[in-house]
Amino acid sequence: MKNWQDILRASITSPADLNEHFNIDITSLSKVAAAFPMRINPYYLQLIEKTGDPLWKQAVPDAAELLDPVCMEDPLGEEELSPVPNLVHKYPDRVLFLVSSQCAMYCRFCTRKRKVGTGKMSITPETIEAGLDYIRHHPQVREVLLSGGDPLLLPDSQIEYLLRELRRIPSVKVIRIGTRVPCTLPMRITPELVAMLKKYHPLYINTHFNHPAEITPESSAACGLLADGGIPMGCQTVLLKGVNDTPEIMRQLLLQLLEIRVKPYYLFQTDLTYGTNHFRTSTATGIKIMRSLIGHISGMAVPTFALDGPGGKGKIPLTPDYILTRGDNLVFENYRGEICTYPESGDGI
Ligand SMILES: *Cc1c(COP(=O)(O)O)cnc(C)c1O
Ligand code: SF4
Repeated sequence: MKNWQDILRASITSPADLNEHFNIDITSLSKVAAAFPMRINPYYLQLIEKTGDPLWKQAVPDAAELLDPVCMEDPLGEEELSPVPNLVHKYPDRVLFLVSSQCAMYCRFCTRKRKVGTGKMSITPETIEAGLDYIRHHPQVREVLLSGGDPLLLPDSQIEYLLRELRRIPSVKVIRIGTRVPCTLPMRITPELVAMLKKYHPLYINTHFNHPAEITPESSAACGLLADGGIPMGCQTVLLKGVNDTPEIMRQLLLQLLEIRVKPYYLFQTDLTYGTNHFRTSTATGIKIMRSLIGHISGMAVPTFALDGPGGKGKIPLTPDYILTRGDNLVFENYRGEICTYPESGDGI
């Protein structure tokens, strides 16, 4: 068996390389791949069954990326909220620390496609030190989210350096890693990696699956290894047109995630990132999907549907509205559409 580094090196990086695998000439899309990098590793490539399927859409450049009429480069205002490069301090008690510019696959809908995988994202020993220093000097930061890019594309030794330095800071209570490798390159989750990670608890991992076809024996084994290392696993799914924007696909995905010991955490409304408008659904689509899930399947499988406010305003939940009237009685519908009444206590506000 090849190791993960060899698999990653065998990735295809230009649309012309797809001609060998699929009977379609998309060489014309090289301009798109020049603007926004393409990388499809052999593992993810073999999961794509046919042109235009939900996995193809996530991985293969599309002409629509350069014809985006609505979106912007940095919709979440991350650069403005960065006190030092590659560290976003938006909420009072937690920071997002970008420690890798690389991913095992470049998702076409990536929120940070303005820089991930390109020369515009410069992660150096200096930016890492500046980030650590910022955290050392801001004791209100009790949780650090390592992200990127994908932190787990770093060598084990560099990941360990970061975790060790963070653990030396008494005000940092919780470390969270955001990584898509359990889905896109599950071979990266080695027993050695897990043995190292588990020294730095409390450590959480939020991974990212978008379609049931991404749940395979390999990804299931990777998540099992992490869970056996005592690492609670969450999933941040993005609601994507033509990929997972139906109740049936979403239901399958969420239930299968629970089976591989991953708890659905967020379902994100697509951000307004330039080059991703063709993936956007209406918020009503997401709310309809949430209504089809809540009560109908295990509450453990139901994520929070959230919109990340443009301009760095933060995430807000978008929830189906079950309340019909408020007053002395709260009148609401249940998940089956039956009307219920709850008498208020009278000590109201
Ligand atoms: C999403 C995000 C977080 C984490 O938010 P949670 O709701 O705690 O998951 C932290 N910082 C930034 C900048 C974020 O975008
Ligand atoms: S893995 Fe995450 S950071 Fe990397 S390209 Fe995909 S969405 Fe972007």
